[in-house]
Amino acid sequence: MKKTRHMLTAAALALLLLLGLNPAGDAEGVLLPTARAVSQSDIDDLKDDRKELTEEKKEIESQLSQLRDDKANAIQRRNLLDQQISLTEREIANTEAQIAGYEALLAQTAYELEENRREEAERYALFCERARVMEEAGTTSYWTVLFKAESFSDLLSRLSDVQEVMNYDQGVLDSLRQLRREIEEKQLYQEELKAGAEAAKIELEAKKVDLDNQREAANQMVAEIQDDLEAAEELYRQKEAEEEEIRRQIKKKEEELAAQMAAAQIDWTASAGGYIWPESVSRRITSPMGSRNTGIPGASTNHKGVDIGGVGYTTTVVATKAGVVITSERSSSYGEYVVISHGPGNTTLYAHMSSRSVKEGDVVTQGQAIGITGSTGISRGAHLHYEITEGGVRVDPLTYLPGYVKAW
Ligand SMILES: [Zn+2]
Repeated sequence: MKKTRHMLTAAALALLLLLGLNPAGDAEGVLLPTARAVSQSDIDDLKDDRKELTEEKKEIESQLSQLRDDKANAIQRRNLLDQQISLTEREIANTEAQIAGYEALLAQTAYELEENRREEAERYALFCERARVMEEAGTTSYWTVLFKAESFSDLLSRLSDVQEVMNYDQGVLDSLRQLRREIEEKQLYQEELKAGAEAAKIELEAKKVDLDNQREAANQMVAEIQDDLEAAEELYRQKEAEEEEIRRQIKKKEEELAAQMAAAQIDWTASAGGYIWPESVSRRITSPMGSRNTGIPGASTNHKGVDIGGVGYTTTVVATKAGVVITSERSSSYGEYVVISHGPGNTTLYAHMSSRSVKEGDVVTQGQAIGITGSTGISRGAHLHYEITEGGVRVDPLTYLPGYVKAW
């Protein structure tokens, strides 16, 4: 008689102990190997951002359609095309982030499912084990145990054990049911995530095709304008005017920077030379500094830097010398461009990039990434336009580009 009670108690304790080690419904507290950083709401946020991008793009596209074939406003059209391209690039980055989010969530869900299944198998084994113990003890119901009480206190003690056991059994069944539900929900969620990731991947491919087409159209537009003498003259007149205005702005910002440095008692002097290449992929110079014969009167005046070709749309552009970023913006002619001051009168300028990764006021070290090559602004294909000024005057960058290959 006593034996039965002890066995029950021992079994119940063992089970409770195990249960305690593996508390029901604690899947939330499980330490996941993958980062908890990603959640469904992150993907939803990205989708919201995406909607805004689409709206912005519609606006650009309506402006573009109003200016279609308007050669007098070529520079404005090109600017809009660049904005459209930039929005497509952001859509691509957004879609890539969504895919990464889906993948992180999928990995997380797969891990949780595996954990849940393992836990389910474990709890089910425990439940079976308990049923077996009950059978061996020769009792099929709790009431039998109670009827075997030898005294009132024995009964109370048995009652509390039985209550515990009954609660426990009910708890095990509930947690097993709960786990099953969780597993089924997660399996459904997993399917949703897979579908979401698949859709995003298809969209990514489509966006990449869009991007190629838009870049092609933007380059084509400049090519067409250059073939039209009158339109080309107007385009280059506007381009020259803008570049001249930018030159004035740079001078002003250089003076401001010099004043700030003086106020902070920082020695801000410049020494000539000391530049590295602005990128490390190509050594091909497709257009040198100075006059160039394009056959277009307005265009053949003066090239203020060199063009480095063979850089495509994905090459990292670096600061050729340590300094302070004094300009980082988009202009119609230079496209996405950055100017770095290396001391009074000494600047470097990097133009036609796809994107910029520094902002005005940033202190950059030599070789630090400042953007990605591209074909924004008045440009007919991916290249990096690079200028150097020393003592306030433009100097020939070729002097500082050892090993360059003449490709003009
Ligand atoms: Zn150039």
